[in-house]
Amino acid sequence: MTKFIIASNNKGKVAELDRILNPLGVTAVTAKSEGITLDDVEETGTTFAENAFIKASAAFRKTGLPSVADDSGLTVDALNGEPGVYSARYAGENATDEDRINKLLKNLEGVPKEKRTAHFVSSICCIIDENTVITAEGSCDGIIAEAPKGDGGFGYDPVFLTDSGKTFAELSADEKDSLSHRGKALRMLYEKLSELDIG
Ligand code: IMP
Repeated sequence: MTKFIIASNNKGKVAELDRILNPLGVTAVTAKSEGITLDDVEETGTTFAENAFIKASAAFRKTGLPSVADDSGLTVDALNGEPGVYSARYAGENATDEDRINKLLKNLEGVPKEKRTAHFVSSICCIIDENTVITAEGSCDGIIAEAPKGDGGFGYDPVFLTDSGKTFAELSADEKDSLSHRGKALRMLYEKLSELDIG
């Protein structure tokens, strides 16, 4: 199996990347598991795509191995697209998923269901070598629930209501992958990688 370094410490994200890339003969590992410590990079981009490139290139420079980064987040229409690229930092640096969800629900207090529309976006950048950079993006529409439901997934999953009436946190891993922004972006990446025959 070809190893791809995943430029993230987010276990939920690494697990999703690994299970979707596996069928391609790619195993997703963290730099840490390879005994390499990635330097913290500042996500200074104004778009998910810019931040994905910043993270993937930092990992590639440090490890010399094929590196993949996903920059993702939640945009909420009633909040003018917030938290967007600030999704991970929405409630401050050391906050928990629960803190971020509570802040989001507070900011949406009194907003009726039809105006709670939101979108998850995942932008993926994969650097195979100096000359081969592959990008892919996916998005997924939903509604922000009034209260968290379910205990699967990670991040904002418990408040992201899908058309099925269930939140992402109430879906199985396969069900989430089939609908999610990251599932869509990774399937696009998969198609592009298949053409390169890297497995
Ligand atoms: P990043 O690591 O800078 O890309 O931050 C992404 C943030 O967006 C995460 O910390 C989560 O809070 C949120 N996020 C991204 N994808 C998902 C998802 O699939 N489910 C729930 N939250 C997500």
